[in-house]
Order: sequence, then C-alpha cells, then structure tokens
Amino acid sequence: MAIPTTDADHTYYEQEIAPVLPPAVLDFHTHVWSADAWQERPWDTQQPGGRYMVTPEHYPAEQLLHDARACFPDRDYQAVCFGYPTPAADWARDTTCVALAARRHQGLFPLLLAGPALGLTRARYEQALDSGGFRGFKVFLNWYGDDYGDIGVEEMVGPTERALANERGLIVMLHVPGRGRLAAPDVQAGVRRLAAECPQARIVLAHCGRCYLPGQMQAAIGSLRGLANVWMDTSMVMDPVVLQIALNEIGPGRLLFGTDFPVAAMRGRRVRVRDHWVDVVLPGYPPSAYRVAGEGYRAGFMAWEIVLAIRWAAELTGISEPERDGIFHDNGMALLESGRAPHSADRGAGNPRRP
Ligand SMILES: [Zn+2]
Repeated sequence: MAIPTTDADHTYYEQEIAPVLPPAVLDFHTHVWSADAWQERPWDTQQPGGRYMVTPEHYPAEQLLHDARACFPDRDYQAVCFGYPTPAADWARDTTCVALAARRHQGLFPLLLAGPALGLTRARYEQALDSGGFRGFKVFLNWYGDDYGDIGVEEMVGPTERALANERGLIVMLHVPGRGRLAAPDVQAGVRRLAAECPQARIVLAHCGRCYLPGQMQAAIGSLRGLANVWMDTSMVMDPVVLQIALNEIGPGRLLFGTDFPVAAMRGRRVRVRDHWVDVVLPGYPPSAYRVAGEGYRAGFMAWEIVLAIRWAAELTGISEPERDGIFHDNGMALLESGRAPHSADRGAGNPRRP
C-alpha cells in the first residue's frame, strides 16, 4: 500500500507539517493486527458492510513504525495501539498479537479489545490486562460497516467492562455507536452516563465522536461540557472547522492527536461531500465504501491532513503554542501517566494489592 516518499514530500513536510509538531508526537489511535489472528476477512464474507473499510490484512508494529517514520521523519513517535475491533478477529490471538507488539517496541501503549459481545468473564479480562501490559480498553464493534442498528453505549461497554475500567482507572477508547454519532441525543446521554458511572476511567471518544463534519460537531460538542473524564482523539478528522468548533467549546486540553494508522497512511484526504465524508485517495488502494481514487493531483499522507486541520483550528481559535503542543503529545501523555501502571493495578475491593 505504501507509496514511497519523494523530494517534493520532504519539502512539503519541512514547510507545512514540521513547524506545527513538537519534538515528540504521541499518536493516540493506531492499530496493529495480523489476518493470521482473524477468523475471516470481512471483505471476503459477502456480509453487508464487509467492504466498509478495506485495509491491509497484515499491519505489524514494524509497519506502523515505518509509516510513522515516513509521516514524521524527524520526530520521536509513540502510539497507543490496539487490534482489529470487528467480529473478524479472534480475540485471544488478536490480544496476543497486540501485547507482543507492545512488548517488542518501546513507546507503544496497548489497549485491550473489550465489550459485552465478546462474552468474556471478568477473570479473563483481568488475566489479559495483567499479563499484557494493557492501559485500558478499545471498545469492540460487533458488526461490519456502518449499519449500527439501534445499539447504544450501554451495549458496547457493559457492566463488567465498566466496573473494571473504574476500579483500575483504565482508558476506555469508545467508538460511539449510532447513525447519528455523538450528534445524537441518545448517544450523548449514553456517554454522559458512562462518564458519571466510571469517574475513575478516562474515556476517549475515537474520531472526535465520529464527528468528521462541522454540522455533526456543532450538534455534539455541547454534550461534553463539564465532563471531567472525557477526551476526543482526532483520528481521521481532517476538517479544520470541526476542530475549531471543538476548541471553542471545550478548549485544547481535551483533544488528543490520533491518526488511525494504517488508514491515515493512505495518500489523500477525507473530505465532506454533502452530508457524509468521502476519502479521496491516489490510485492503488483497494476499493472501499466512500473511497474515491483519482489521479492528476498531488496528495500527501492523510496523517498530514490531520496535522493541518489541527494547525488551522489552532490558528483560528488563537490557542497558544504550548496548548497546540499539548494536543500532539502532552495531553495524551498526561492521560497515560495518570493511570495506574498496568502491573500494579488494584485488584478491587477485598483483594490484596499486587506487590
Ligand atoms: Zn481505528
């Protein structure tokens, strides 16, 4: 999938991207996976939604770090990473794959796939959290594509996941459900209930609550006002107006830079067309929903477009340089450091604390 970088890329990076980045970048939303840990390839199943997001079948940590090096060649790079959060994945094998990646590569902070649909016991979660060095949960999506039905936040983060997240102060990376995204009142209410019920958990809404378009963010952002334990990652959000609205409403401290590698390693940009996003990409990527390939124009990495969206939103809202740096690194690092170290986690009421 990777298109090699050129001299023109280097020039563009030096002039437009590098000046916005602090010396170290923390990417709060990345994946590592191997189709060897899958039960099926979604795009081979003929199921509805199976071709919603067609990706490389193998995305080892080495490739993640290679892509990061291509996008941010002279910066220290660290990343929060997790597996393949769909029914295709075999949870146990996917969990092992992510834990091994994080063990082998410094600067990777793993999250464990979690959700009631996986049917896991508390003991199974605890064993995985303790042995894998996981910092929290990435909420599992029990479907392919974007047909969410009427699933609510409660069905994605169940009682077991909530109890563990709160007791251990885990990060909970939530891909909000619903056709209406975080703009929908029932989803907003679900997030607020989760935040209230798990005050010790640190909840991160992936893709800014899936608000890729200004109108969505406009309708969504007020719901996060006053929530002390909710953040948003910027993965695949490339519209500066979306981030401008977010910054105006809840300030820079709640935003975490994220890419969604391998997706954001594609060359192109996610744009708004009428009332949906469309990924405009260079030729060579597999066909996928809302992905339009074309040629005759220059395109950089989508990860750069996320950086540019932050850059413009920062300029338009007048946040300070340290505040902007916070989005790229410090906010997320503070979040990781404020959690309890994974191997000294409190085992819960009545259980002795591990040495
Ligand atoms: Zn993702």
